Amino acid sequence: SKESSDAALIKMKSKLQACLDMTQNGKTAGQVNKENSPGEAENIDGMMARLATQQQAALIDVEDLNALNNEWRSKEAKELQDLVQKRIRYLQNPKDCSKARQLVCNLNKGCGFGCQVHHLAYCFMVAYGTQRTLIIRSKNWRYNSEGWEAVYLPASETCRVATGEAINWNGEQATKDIQTVSLPIVDGIINAPPYLPLGIPEDLAPRLLGLHGNPSVWWVGQFLGYLMRPQPWLQEDLDGVEKQSNFQHPIVGVHVRRTDKVGTEAAFHAIEEYMKHVIAWYDKYDLRMSKEKSGEKATRRVYLASDDTSVLPEARKMYPDYVFLGDTAIADSASLRSRYSKGSLRGVIVDIHFLSKCDYLSCTFSSQVCRVAYELMQTLHPDASAKFHSLDDIYYYGGQTGHEQQAVYGHEARSDTKEINMEVGDVVGIAGNHWDGYSKGIDKRTRKVGLYPSYKVKEIFKLVKYPTYPEANA
Ligand code: GDP
Repeated sequence: SKESSDAALIKMKSKLQACLDMTQNGKTAGQVNKENSPGEAENIDGMMARLATQQQAALIDVEDLNALNNEWRSKEAKELQDLVQKRIRYLQNPKDCSKARQLVCNLNKGCGFGCQVHHLAYCFMVAYGTQRTLIIRSKNWRYNSEGWEAVYLPASETCRVATGEAINWNGEQATKDIQTVSLPIVDGIINAPPYLPLGIPEDLAPRLLGLHGNPSVWWVGQFLGYLMRPQPWLQEDLDGVEKQSNFQHPIVGVHVRRTDKVGTEAAFHAIEEYMKHVIAWYDKYDLRMSKEKSGEKATRRVYLASDDTSVLPEARKMYPDYVFLGDTAIADSASLRSRYSKGSLRGVIVDIHFLSKCDYLSCTFSSQVCRVAYELMQTLHPDASAKFHSLDDIYYYGGQTGHEQQAVYGHEARSDTKEINMEVGDVVGIAGNHWDGYSKGIDKRTRKVGLYPSYKVKEIFKLVKYPTYPEANA
């Protein structure tokens, strides 16, 4: 109601004002706040800690404000998801496969599981954009020689084998009249169609923008959610692991990507760097609990996934007050092991599944494993766009069309810094967030590359004219 939203806004405003007052104090430390810390200057660490708690309290107000819309939000999210899933089912199940337009996607990209899943989802988006049924060719897949369908439900009930010879993609127009087209990996595509992340469908955009903090990732999640519907035996295994490991909320997911990635595609990060964000998440959680039910503190559960087996025992030793789940990589029965075929497949499937079910993720978005988890997470909440902290990259999708932002505040670079000037309305191509209040990018007006305050821009979501599939509703 309006009354409760006004009340929440007023509370939030007063907390933010108090934060401001405190930073003002900090500036003149030494002469202020004598009553609170008599005789000595306010110590910076103490002030930062108190500021952090105040900021958390303000964030709780924001959440409360958001929650006033929960009923509408859940309904809207469900409707949109149902609509898109219906369109996908329609596209994927043509009545007469021999006449259907088809897009063949080979699951033979030479890379890890997350990377291959992203390859499939990219194919799927192009299939949806060009109104072609997606046909997955995955025999002799490196993770299971029986193919994708041995693990996940087939992408189609009616159309799994291509009709005739597939012609290589060379542009949407050029292949318009060809029945069966084969799509290369995104790195090698020529005449790329507009149906790529981070674009979102124009027809749904007005609703998506009102619902979700990051419609681009929501859109990717829709395709992954469909592709990764488990086979019944896999569902059973996942349910079993959930019970056995006592997976319960609240729970924060941590993904630590090490081994071959470190020093090549990403930097090494110590467990403390990930845990810092887990601790902050639980501190805020407890603050909310203390407001709602005095005294109760959450059991601090963490689902810890890693390709480095030394991380879990190390974390347990370093954080005895936390309950770590995650030793689920190896299937214990021979029949299960043969289902997965390759030993490593269960580990990564189980880890991605449970990471996606966590309430928050602390990881590196340089890893496709964590990005897949984050994408799937969007299918489980009306808006889970803010439920993560990445230690390195911002969210991206391999092969994406540019990621742009627009200045809503002007900025004047301070001298002797790597900052750039911005005028209100400037379009900025973002390259990364430094997670210290600044992002790096290029101002497209001045062509200057450098840092700018992240809060001074807003996202530009690229609207793409995808087909709208009115037939799906018939
Ligand atoms: P990226 O290299 O991290 O971007 O992601 P990929 O999925 O493309 O390749 C990494 C591969 O390493 C995965 O497919 C897994 O086989 C393995 N891996 C990485 N992280 C984990 C993890 O947390 N758990 C398990 N079981 N395997 C992982």
